Amino acid sequence: MRAFPNVLLNAFERQVLFILLLVISLFGPKTFAENSPGRIKIVTSVFPLMEFAGAVVGERGEVSLLLPPGAEIHTWQPRPSDIVRLSSADLFVYIGGDMEPWLNDILASVRNPSLKTLEASHGISLIKIGTTGKFDLQAHKREHEHGAVDPHIWLDFQNDQVIVDRIAAVLSEMDPAGVSDFKKNASAYKKRLQTLDDTYTKSLKGCVHKVFILGGHAAFGYLARRYGLQQVSLYGLSPDSQPTPKKLIEVVELAKKYKVKVIFFESYMSDKLANLLAREVKARIMVLNPGANLSKEELKSGVTFFDIMERNLENLKDGLICR
Ligand SMILES: [Zn+2]
Repeated sequence: MRAFPNVLLNAFERQVLFILLLVISLFGPKTFAENSPGRIKIVTSVFPLMEFAGAVVGERGEVSLLLPPGAEIHTWQPRPSDIVRLSSADLFVYIGGDMEPWLNDILASVRNPSLKTLEASHGISLIKIGTTGKFDLQAHKREHEHGAVDPHIWLDFQNDQVIVDRIAAVLSEMDPAGVSDFKKNASAYKKRLQTLDDTYTKSLKGCVHKVFILGGHAAFGYLARRYGLQQVSLYGLSPDSQPTPKKLIEVVELAKKYKVKVIFFESYMSDKLANLLAREVKARIMVLNPGANLSKEELKSGVTFFDIMERNLENLKDGLICR
């Protein structure tokens, strides 16, 4: 169960927020759109969408991330200031499929009738929980999960190309003068995604191990499906509850059975359990980063989606012994 009452504003609070927004719009700093007429202001929920939208919109707009750096997408709770930010945006791109449990509440609170929204998971072949194979230990806990599908769609670079096209299409509707730019930008970015996909396919074809064990949550279902691997994770689709001791034992047994040499863990989660697991099965630990968000330092240094995915591939090749 998740609790997200923060954005459920009562009538009075909505009134106060509305007045606040009115004051900001009248006396506050001018919005980007007012400063640069015609430029599209895009807000996205996760980092990959920010990079995709930024690549497609190019000079004709600007993109920002709704979540603050380092925030965990599944467990984050929007504050009134986030609602204010969405209220001055032109386009909001989000994943859907329960990636953003706060989505309906925040959209209901935003007073911005001209805000366009794009649900990135629409039209993507989604993985249903419990259908990823016999290693899906989450299946029996399904009833406790919030959603019925895996929302980490950006970890399949074919999906990303579909998303890039859809972003280009909605931007073309919003800014018809930019159609040829959006088309050109989208096709250049899709080429890079295809190259990344080809590299993954080639690199992960001949791995000694096909099973990878995550000391984190089950974020890599799409990657596993696309490249013929099997994901085993300590947590479910969201890292918001501690795994049970029984679960830990199950994962340890699988790790031993498949003689894994590496336990993968996520950058923004505690590596305590991953370390425990690694000690238990005498394995090393390595990072596998879903890339939903970046740290402040990473954002500053300009880390890209490709940087994260290339590093993941290096660690997968190392951990799964791929030649
Ligand atoms: Zn996740």
